Amino acid sequence: MNNPVTPQLSPATRQFLKGPLELFIDGRWGAGVAENSVASHDPATDDLLAHVAIGDGADIDRAVAAARKAFEGPWSRLSGFERADHLRRLSRLIDENAQTFIELEVLDNGMPLAIAQLTVSSTARLFEYYAGWAERIEGTTTTPPPHVLAAGEALTYTTREPVGVVGQIIPWNVPLSMAGLKLAPALAAGCTVVLKPAEDTPLSAILLARLIQQAGFPDGVVNVVNGYGRDAGAALVAHKDIDKISFTGSTDVGRAIIRSAADNLKKVSLELGGKSPVVVFDDADLDLAVPGVAMATFFLQGQNCMAGTRIFVHERIHDEFVARLVAFVGAFTLGHGLDPATQMGPLISKRQRERVQSYIASGIEEGAKLVLGGIAPEGAGNFLQPTIFTETRPDMRIVREEIFGPVMAIQRFSDPDLDVVARQANDSVFGLSGSVWTQNLSIAHRMAARIRSGHVSINCHGAVGPNIPFGGFKQSGWGREFGRDGLDLYLDTKAVTVKL
Ligand code: NAD
Repeated sequence: MNNPVTPQLSPATRQFLKGPLELFIDGRWGAGVAENSVASHDPATDDLLAHVAIGDGADIDRAVAAARKAFEGPWSRLSGFERADHLRRLSRLIDENAQTFIELEVLDNGMPLAIAQLTVSSTARLFEYYAGWAERIEGTTTTPPPHVLAAGEALTYTTREPVGVVGQIIPWNVPLSMAGLKLAPALAAGCTVVLKPAEDTPLSAILLARLIQQAGFPDGVVNVVNGYGRDAGAALVAHKDIDKISFTGSTDVGRAIIRSAADNLKKVSLELGGKSPVVVFDDADLDLAVPGVAMATFFLQGQNCMAGTRIFVHERIHDEFVARLVAFVGAFTLGHGLDPATQMGPLISKRQRERVQSYIASGIEEGAKLVLGGIAPEGAGNFLQPTIFTETRPDMRIVREEIFGPVMAIQRFSDPDLDVVARQANDSVFGLSGSVWTQNLSIAHRMAARIRSGHVSINCHGAVGPNIPFGGFKQSGWGREFGRDGLDLYLDTKAVTVKL
């Protein structure tokens, strides 16, 4: 680490960390039935931040019962316009509490300040965006065919109805954004929610729940139960009175969720892992591509589902591209996220760092060439230098498996046939994101069409936003979040036929 800093916290954040930090069930705050807690540490300093109450199956039972009561009671009686008012009030409260959210996200997760600022403001905007959709939920009308009911004597109309009580499980990599991305469309649709944040980052969801209460949401509409995946998470997924599970996390847990949810056939949407390709053609503008590709891999320390980690570079520019990339990434400042000079923070935990280091060791063993990084700096925090491998092959573990850390694997390509390049880019069980770097418009669009991913960027990477559908092909998931698709995940269609 080349940038140590003692965080200066605002009084509101200090006050928040003093606690109590509890479960939020049916509009009330309290400990879990078993009175367990988890310690939250600053991943940049290892300092203890706070103890946070966690729940298990008994608390999930209470939370689901509260969410059911709210779904059948006060929340279902509100119109879309009234739900929108709640969402807009919440959006304003997020803006008003932005500084505390920013500090909590950096402390809990380790992300750099600029990313925390972006995630907080974009979460506020997301609630505004879905407030707009709450006002626009509409059905259609049609007429039944004449062999069913005589022409002119019947009418069918459709309504869009909330799917019901939803369990939402989120990861630790962008905690507030993940909570917003789950809650905003579900609440706009009229669902009620039990949210289980990740055990590594329990803090910002608690502040969000306080603001939900302040914004006047009826008791039980949103319940926040921090806890471990194997306890609270598994209980939520297995619960018979949950109508739908929305999950973001690893592909392995996604698979386990599908199996468990099969019991009562609850609906499931999944945002899972990625190993996204980045294809740099020989006519790419390297002034744009070098920093762009660097951020594709190293944004959020590589703990980013859309990370572009398999880099395919045309052999004509390979050496120059690698030299410029190594110079650019080698100059990154690692440090505490609250220091504005920091470009890369720590990894989420020691366990995660060890996992990433074992991948780096496997890359070296399997014959890849380590051209940058690979080292964990001495001292406190879970820091790891940004790491670049060249001369990688498609069969290597660092190319096949999602590392979820700051590791880039570069391969060369030379074939002019785009189908061949696309086959290399698509040689993965994942299909979440990807990018193409070229100044040739025809190559750009033909390549984007060939990449089997839910989101492809041209001359940028992972540019997502509230109105841009996002989700995975292949083993990267089921369904799309953001935009109208994100709302549709929480709506069912009912057809009503009237014989006139
Ligand atoms: P994870 O799957 O270990 O955990 C995610 C969440 O699931 C946590 O809240 C955890 O407590 C919970 N969980 C764990 N086991 C569970 C179980 N058996 N039943 C129910 N819940 C359980 O993933 P992670 O390490 O927190 O996050 C990293 C993964 O998330 C990566 O694979 C990454 O690609 C993926 N991710 C995907 C997206 C996306 O939008 N596609 C976004 C961010 C992260």
